[in-house]
Amino acid sequence: MKEINNSTLLKIADEFSTPLYVYHGEKIIDQYQRLKNAFPGVKVHLHYALKALNNINILKLLKQQGAGLDAVSIQEVQLGIRAGFLPHEIMYTPNCVDFEEIKEAVELGVTINIDNISTLEMFGNEYGSTVPCCIRLNPHIMAGGHSNISVGHIDSKFGISIYQLRHVHRVVESLKINVNGLHMHTGSDILDADVFLRGAELLFDAAESFPDLEFMDFGSGFKVSYKDGDIVTDIEEMGGKIAEAFKVFCTKYGREIALWFEPGKFLVSESGSLLVKANVIKQTTSTVFVGVNSGQNHLIRPMFYDAYHHIENISNAKAAPRLYSVVGYICETDTLGYDRKLAEVREGDVLRIKNAGAYAFSMSNNYNARLRPAEVLFYENKAQLIRKRECLEDLTRNEIEVI
Ligand SMILES: *Cc1c(COP(=O)(O)O)cnc(C)c1O
Repeated sequence: MKEINNSTLLKIADEFSTPLYVYHGEKIIDQYQRLKNAFPGVKVHLHYALKALNNINILKLLKQQGAGLDAVSIQEVQLGIRAGFLPHEIMYTPNCVDFEEIKEAVELGVTINIDNISTLEMFGNEYGSTVPCCIRLNPHIMAGGHSNISVGHIDSKFGISIYQLRHVHRVVESLKINVNGLHMHTGSDILDADVFLRGAELLFDAAESFPDLEFMDFGSGFKVSYKDGDIVTDIEEMGGKIAEAFKVFCTKYGREIALWFEPGKFLVSESGSLLVKANVIKQTTSTVFVGVNSGQNHLIRPMFYDAYHHIENISNAKAAPRLYSVVGYICETDTLGYDRKLAEVREGDVLRIKNAGAYAFSMSNNYNARLRPAEVLFYENKAQLIRKRECLEDLTRNEIEVI
């Protein structure tokens, strides 16, 4: 797979200005195909978790590849439908939402995933056996790189505890609920197949008492590379093991059902770069800061999750490396990278911050009344604007002046 080279990125920065998100279409397709083909002999459906990046063009690109969607809010469901997904291609996995929102999703015809016993009761009372649903179980497996992204542990608010299965059954049986799927999502940054397999075994056991399953959904959490030498999920090895275990399960279950995953980060993280400009070089007694025209308002992951995002100086790439702390222009300590070796940075240079495809634009905000950057898709050798840069009016649109 060919990456977008620095000179192309510089041209894009020049044409569309900075700060700027640039996404590489072919990289997304490549990741999709890699995952899709990692489970030999099993019917796999990939539902893209659009909370990672929801630009309509990214959604359409993945739809063309055959992906479905995983939506966590009714608005995400609506964005999916707007992008051309059929309702049945969308899985709706809400947490702590008003039951009215679930009713809205049922009316739209999407697949419903339920993660709370009281919601299951409401669902059964409302629909009985007329509308099927999936149940999100929490297998209590500790996984994930950071406690904020590990959602399967014992204190997590997500899913129905696997220890409450008996209660689930009483509700399902008495209200005649048609359970068509079982789901788990243990968190992000899972490193090895064994974590998935441990969760999977628990779901396989649970499945024995749900005779009408059409699919089993193992969520996501595949770890991608953030820097050279990073340990990443070996998708092919993991896929082989899971496919094997799943086939054994299907034989035992008595028929073949579908295997679903909901990747977000895996599909789009590496495709994205945030291009920023070095506004100032600031020498202090302890370090040299590069202050850029961006910050936690455009990429919050370093502050939120202690995430490492690789940074390169693409304007002066051949220069000798020096040590810098790269910081944003927000009135917060928004350090994008501590003690980074960058090719000597001059004021005005363009820096590339990598892995800005997932949870970058989608977590961006207007703190300090800063505007969100534009988004550009580089696909089939063309760079096209896919979202305009915000303007001041975007900030004040809903304001009502009463004084
Ligand atoms: C966030 C989320 C995902 C995607 O997680 P990634 O780590 O981005 O792959 C999948 N499923 C559910 C239910 C989620 O909340």
